[in-house]
Amino acid sequence: SKEIKVALAGNPNSGKTTAFNAITGARQHVGNYPGITVDKKEGFTSVGENKIHLIDLPGTYSLTAYTMEEIVARNVVADQRPDVVIDVLNAGALERNLYLAIQLMEMGAPLVLALNMMDEANKQGMKIDLAKLSELLNVPVVETVARTGDGIPSLMEATVKCAAENQGKKWEPLSISYGPDLDPALDKLIALIEENNVLTDRYPARWTAIKYLESDDEIIQLGREMHPVSAELEEIVKDVSKHLESTLATYPEAVIADYRYGFITSIIRQGVVTRLDATADRV
Ligand code: GDP
Ligand code: MG
Repeated sequence: SKEIKVALAGNPNSGKTTAFNAITGARQHVGNYPGITVDKKEGFTSVGENKIHLIDLPGTYSLTAYTMEEIVARNVVADQRPDVVIDVLNAGALERNLYLAIQLMEMGAPLVLALNMMDEANKQGMKIDLAKLSELLNVPVVETVARTGDGIPSLMEATVKCAAENQGKKWEPLSISYGPDLDPALDKLIALIEENNVLTDRYPARWTAIKYLESDDEIIQLGREMHPVSAELEEIVKDVSKHLESTLATYPEAVIADYRYGFITSIIRQGVVTRLDATADRV
């Protein structure tokens, strides 16, 4: 049977390394990405007949171009096209941890969420409705305690199932609204990006359009090097930026972050997280 390529993503301190070790045991090796100091860790395991090749992505909170870690994480997903991305989340800080998950979904990679540190979350009196979270996000969700290995076999079963279900399918990027100020600009950018095939071999058009609005240095630089239409794309961003600054004293990147958190909050508020201790802070 074919080897399944799986990338492991997650915020720093979510338990990603612990999960990586629990999944691969001693079958791992560490190298580094050419020209930079970011570790490149890979490992292997098998689930039944299936061989799994696990690629550890650097721990990140987001997928911007501000740090080498974030650039590596998103480039591995874009270039190596893993069959599945497992995102390890700290279940006790779901809102913040879902910020990365949303961006992975916007890239379109088939995703499995590992809600890790469930022991801690339970100790804090937090109850998480996994089925509801899974249904609302339309991704498989598995609870894990990487430190003890609890849930790791289920996580790998879900990963193999996700790979099988998505095999040969086109990636389906998540599309969320960025509001009345950005959505029209986004649509214009997407149309131009699709017409001119701007980086479309690597990224969904909508993802590239969002990166333009976020003033993403790496994407804008690539656009300039490869695509004559880039000046027109940058002009659209300049116009909407000016408009946002004069009307709301804000800028596209801030609006995008607000809408992502709004999307996450709307999901969590639908009964995904409840606290047994009613006096505790709401998530
Ligand atoms: P990383 O930064 O995401 O790679 O996180 P690590 O794997 O280094 O884990 C950070 C800390 O959390 C370590 O002390 C781990 O032992 C601990 N840890 C990892 N998974 C769990 C878990 O499921 N439950 C608990 N209570 N601790 C965990
Ligand atoms: Mg680590």
